[in-house]
Parts: sequence; C-alpha cells; structure tokens
Amino acid sequence: MRFSKKTNAIGPSPTLAIDAKAKSLKAGGVDIISFGVGEPDFDTPQNIKEAAIKAIRDGFTKYTPVAGIEDLKSAIIDKLKKENGLDYEKNEIIVSCGAKHSLYNVAEALYDVGDEILLPSPYWVSYPDQIMLNSAVPVIIKTDEKNSFKITPELLKAHLSKKTKALILNSPSNPTGLAYDKKSLEAIAELAVKHDFYIVSDEIYEKLVYDGFEHISIASFGDEIKKRTIVINGLSKSFAMTGWRIGFAAGPKDIIEAMTNIQSQSTSNPASISQKAAVEAYRGPQDFIHTMNIEFDKRRLYMFERLNKMKGVSCIRPVGAFYAFPDVSYYFDKNFKGSRINSSMDLTSYLLEEAKVAVVPGSAFGDDRYIRLSYATSMTNIEKGLDRIEDALSKLQ
Ligand SMILES: *Cc1c(COP(=O)(O)O)cnc(C)c1O
Repeated sequence: MRFSKKTNAIGPSPTLAIDAKAKSLKAGGVDIISFGVGEPDFDTPQNIKEAAIKAIRDGFTKYTPVAGIEDLKSAIIDKLKKENGLDYEKNEIIVSCGAKHSLYNVAEALYDVGDEILLPSPYWVSYPDQIMLNSAVPVIIKTDEKNSFKITPELLKAHLSKKTKALILNSPSNPTGLAYDKKSLEAIAELAVKHDFYIVSDEIYEKLVYDGFEHISIASFGDEIKKRTIVINGLSKSFAMTGWRIGFAAGPKDIIEAMTNIQSQSTSNPASISQKAAVEAYRGPQDFIHTMNIEFDKRRLYMFERLNKMKGVSCIRPVGAFYAFPDVSYYFDKNFKGSRINSSMDLTSYLLEEAKVAVVPGSAFGDDRYIRLSYATSMTNIEKGLDRIEDALSKLQ
C-alpha cells in the first residue's frame, strides 16, 4: 500500500512519543521522573466538572453548530474584550477540538502550495508538520539565546519574500518560556502590515506568566494588524483541561468561515459537553489560575536556578508557560562507558537510561543544543529529578 506523499513528510509528535515511552517504563515498575509532559499537573476545577455533569444530565448531548454554541462564543467574545481589548463578532470566532485543531484549521484554510510560512525557532513541535501537511514551506527563523530567543525586525526582514504568507508567533513560548513585550510586538505588527502577511498568534500560555509580565495580543494594535491576525487560544493550559479538547480561533470573518467549512467536513462541532464546561471556565471564578501560577512560579525559579548552577548548563529565565530550555551542548562529544553523546537525542536517551529522567530533545523544537524540561510536576519530583540529572551529567567525560 502506498500512502499519500504528504504523510511521508511528517512523523508523530515527538513530545507525545517521549511521554509515551516514559509512561510505559513507569508502568513496567521503573521509577521514572518525567519532565516530558506538556500539560498542567493540576486537576480541572470542580465547578467546571460540575457544569459538564449538568450538561449530561440535561441531555445536552447532541450535535451543536459546527463553530460552537452561542453561549460559548459569547463567553469567548467577552473574554477577548475584557482581557485582550479585542472586539469580535460571533462570525469571527470558531471553537475547535483544542487549540491544535484551530491551528490546523488555519493551516488548511490559509496555507497554499508553495506559500512560505515564517516560523521562529525554537518552535512548538506541531507547527512545521502542519505547514508541510498543507504543502506550504516552513521558513525557519533561527533565534539566539542571547536575545532571549526573540525574533527582531532585522531577522524578520531577512526572511521575507514575495511568497511570504504568514508568521507563526507563540508568546509565551513553548519550549523556551520567552514572551514578547509590547514594543517588540509593535515592530513585528508594523512589518506584517507593511509587507501584507498574516500573523497566526498562538496565545495558549497567555495566563501562565511570571515576574509581573503582562501578556498583550498583537491583534490589539489597530484594525490593520487585527485584520491580518488569527488569534489562537484555548482552555487546555489555563484551566488544566487538556483532555476536554476545546480551543478557539478569532479572526477576520472570511477566514473563520473557511475554517468552519473545513471543520464541518472533518470533525463537525467539538464535544457538546466540553463546550458547556468551557462556558463555565470563562464565566465562573478565575482564582484557580492564580493558585496554579503561584505553584508554577516556585518551581520555575527553583528549576532555573538549579539548571544554571550545573556545570556547562545555561538557561534563560522563562517568563511564561511551564518549561525550562537549557543549553546542554557542553556535554556533546563527551562519553559514558565508551559511548559518545553527539546530540540532544543522545543526551535524552542517556538521561532516561542512566538517570531515569525523561526530558525532550531540543531537536524536536528545531535546535539541537537544548533539551526541554517541563515543571508541570511536583516540587519533590523536580528536586529529585534535577539531582539525578546533575549526577548523570557529572559522569560524562
Ligand atoms: C499545548 C499547546 C497547544 C495545544 O493545545 P490544545 O488546546 O490542547 O490543543 C497549542 N500550542 C502550544 C504552543 C501548546 O503548547
């Protein structure tokens, strides 16, 4: 059997693959500490669960409108207005089965054969594959740790061409934890308007910010940039709702309409029950996020300090999301019992076998010098896991 050409261009999500390997070792009785996870280790708040249970009891269990129920669209519109200073109508919103699904709908609706999509690296694992699945070309913009992994207007200009269709922006970022301030975003917005390309703004980590950082949506700088921006957001990270599969896109009505047509021919509406839960998440009490952030913040600072104290390791201070992204390339070309570490993947395998710690290799995010550690796990695990990593690294010669 021969499969379609585009399936040959892509592989499984590497983060999910590592997580699966760690979980299966754990199931086999090995004491694994996982820094591989990409989801909060908190339970979904009770009020949200109750709303879902009520939806089931009320028989709210049938197809809904493809792009989401009216209640949820209203809640999203109010959220965008209040928190992001953005005005949208209902026909400018689509609710999908997770933010990843919204991003995929954008890719299908917007990216055409040969279009160039600007992608700052390190990037989230699914962006290049979603671009390639639609026969467009990812144009990687390599960023520098010295500039906190941010793209600059100069870098951006150097990668523009007549085929540039869009820029994918992820702030706060998975995997680096960087977040763009207002000034940097304004400079990017100016270029997008001047050279007429779209911005796909993945704001899924908007609420998980530290050190008093204030998230700003790039779409909020005026009509010209707003009509070129598709804002992507969702509940997975802010409300610990990864399994519920609710995300959304907000953007110009013609793009949203195209995305809705695509969704109507693939998944139809997201789960009716999850949509009711999402209404409660946006309309109900918001203190859960604060409580979760306080805990993440403690772990973030501890991990950041510990990593930077390890010999040869350097790490920027993350201001958002729940990941640390240290440079570990100092250990490349070193050996353990005769076998040589040549890449982030080698180091990841070594850490899993020798330290019983799961991390994700930087190669999955487009930069082989790094590994990604998630701090969405308990402080006890973080302490123990970092001890193990430090110990294992010290054995490399
Ligand atoms: C987790 C994540 C998503 C996807 O979230 P879902 O709503 O669960 O699909 C999108 N973008 C980034 C950068 C993420 O880390």
